[in-house]
Amino acid sequence: MANCLFCRIINREIPGSIVYEDDRIVAFNDINPQAPVHVLVIPRRHIESLNALTSGDDGIVGEMVRRGAAIAKEKGVSDSGFRTVFNTNAAAGQTVFHIHLHVLGGRTFTWPPG
Ligand code: AMP
Ligand code: ZN
Repeated sequence: MANCLFCRIINREIPGSIVYEDDRIVAFNDINPQAPVHVLVIPRRHIESLNALTSGDDGIVGEMVRRGAAIAKEKGVSDSGFRTVFNTNAAAGQTVFHIHLHVLGGRTFTWPPG
């Protein structure tokens, strides 16, 4: 998608602080981190949100979640605890419409979220 911010990071049209990539997934540091660790895990393929998923996407979503857990481990927050979030549409605060898994760690989180 030409005007998608995250597609442009994937395509190196704008800079991203990339922490992991393979042929299906890219992960990079959030530009406005909400915790000491705040990484976004995204598929290379443009998918707008959880609302756009089909059964054919089960594999990529599983890879995103498993990669998020691996990054949390690499960053040293898997034992202390970390939060994973998919925001979907306006009421949840989704601002970038390329599906992304937030991986947050390094501090204590409250529940319920704001
Ligand atoms: P969401 O609000 O769930 O759609 O999350 C979008 C996230 O993308 C926010 O946490 C932003 O801080 C983050 N973000 C926006 N622009 C960039 C960028 N250029 N590089 C890295 N993260 C970004
Ligand atoms: Zn995109």
